[in-house]
Amino acid sequence: MLDELGAGRLHGSDGSAGGRSGFSGCGGSDMLCTMGSDISPLDISSGGILPCYDKLREECGVAGIYSSDPAKDVARSVYYCLYALQHRGQESAGIATTDGLQTHFHKEMGLVPEVFDEDILKQLKGYIGVGHVRYSTTGDSKVANAQPLVVRYRGGSITLAHNGNLVNAAELRHRLEEDGVVFQTTIDSEVIVNLIARFSSEGIVGAMERAMDLIRGAYTLIVMTEDCLIGVRDPFGLRPLCIGRTEDGYVLASESCALDIIGARFIRDAEPGEIIVIDKAGLRAKQARVKHAQAGNRRASCIFEYIYFARPDSIIDGTSVYEARKNAGRILAEEHPVDADLVIAVPDTSIPAAVGYAEASGIPFGEGLIKNRYVGRTFIQPEQELRETAVRLKLNPLKHNISGKRIVMIDDSIVRGTTSRQIVNSLKMAGAKEVHLRISSPPVTHSCYFGIDTPDREQLIGARKTPEQIAEAIGADSLGYLSVDCLVRSVGKPAEQLCLACFTGDYPMDVPQAGNKKVFEGR
Ligand code: SF4
Repeated sequence: MLDELGAGRLHGSDGSAGGRSGFSGCGGSDMLCTMGSDISPLDISSGGILPCYDKLREECGVAGIYSSDPAKDVARSVYYCLYALQHRGQESAGIATTDGLQTHFHKEMGLVPEVFDEDILKQLKGYIGVGHVRYSTTGDSKVANAQPLVVRYRGGSITLAHNGNLVNAAELRHRLEEDGVVFQTTIDSEVIVNLIARFSSEGIVGAMERAMDLIRGAYTLIVMTEDCLIGVRDPFGLRPLCIGRTEDGYVLASESCALDIIGARFIRDAEPGEIIVIDKAGLRAKQARVKHAQAGNRRASCIFEYIYFARPDSIIDGTSVYEARKNAGRILAEEHPVDADLVIAVPDTSIPAAVGYAEASGIPFGEGLIKNRYVGRTFIQPEQELRETAVRLKLNPLKHNISGKRIVMIDDSIVRGTTSRQIVNSLKMAGAKEVHLRISSPPVTHSCYFGIDTPDREQLIGARKTPEQIAEAIGADSLGYLSVDCLVRSVGKPAEQLCLACFTGDYPMDVPQAGNKKVFEGR
């Protein structure tokens, strides 16, 4: 029996209690899917929540913990892992646990500390747990689409947390629907869980392999049954997954910073195409037999994890994110030197690159923009004429440091260019004599289909204009981007092992002609 927590805990925008989550039939595999009542989706796409937000958006974060002590409750540790992974998704959070008999779960819209409190964590009983933080890349931002997905089928229950995006989800879903499967969410992850349940007679690992044979795209999965925890990384290794050892068990997580926070010891990263199984026999790993042509062709880890997505204190596939960013700054100083008085960063993700640029150029690094850390999801966008207020609320120039100086401003990326123009303008208003913009990645010219929310190609300023035209459009005295070759050098891995597609258009697999994260909405 599945035991859902949090009934009546959904809150509408007025803070009143919302509807109750429940179960409903989910089709072909005798599955029951958890469903929650909708609450108003957060309208991040309007730009009304995070002022001066002009970045590719993070995907999701996943974590799972297995304790060898069946009397232990792991929910609190999963909660701390999600806290550490909050930067990967801020729209919803969820945790599911099992004590071997019942699966308990709670998920809501909101940040991790908003979604969970002491009482909820105490009710999440069990020695195995899975957690998820979500930013929607496929499907609307609503609680029905929050994860983990908890489903019941003939053989028991399966809980799934997914980071990434399938490129053939629409086709697979169509085939499943033709077979009579009824979907309860609008996310591609439900396709995966349906497939696992369908093949469950082959055992959980066999079912996983069969599902992996059919799905294409980016996926890091953490799956929980009543007696085991499973981690899976797609055959290209697009999204990260690492393995750690706790005092009495194991932890799987998107990033190593989640291991640090619970005192777990990092063991290694999961390999592309690897299935990690943790149960009472311990941990074992298996390379999936994925037959489709693309499998094993090449590794293609997302380079944007190093540029922007991951936390700087994480180590991904053996490379320190902080060091990769600092290297990028050092190399950027060689590629695009400039005479200036001060190097500043657009906080926070660009700070390591700015430190590297300053070290290599000999120009001192200093603070030039002060970030208001309390401007968050509830920010109310000012009216059009107060647009500059939005930027200053989030990033205010430190006039004392800036006035009369030639500034090198380091940013990690430019997507649409709107924010860069506002920041450059605010620096000049604060008295900067010159503003030279240096970007620690190449121009973003193509959309991502692998779980990163990118605007349509025509909105990418790097796809439409030359660096000189962009400099003119944003009012910078000069602009220099890190080249693709130098970016690869900064990460210290061969280009053949990385996905660079948003800079090159060279996707590691066939991608749909038009990407639409709401592909299943309205069906
Ligand atoms: S297209 Fe860009 S953002 Fe997407 S996986 Fe590849 S490198 Fe990462």
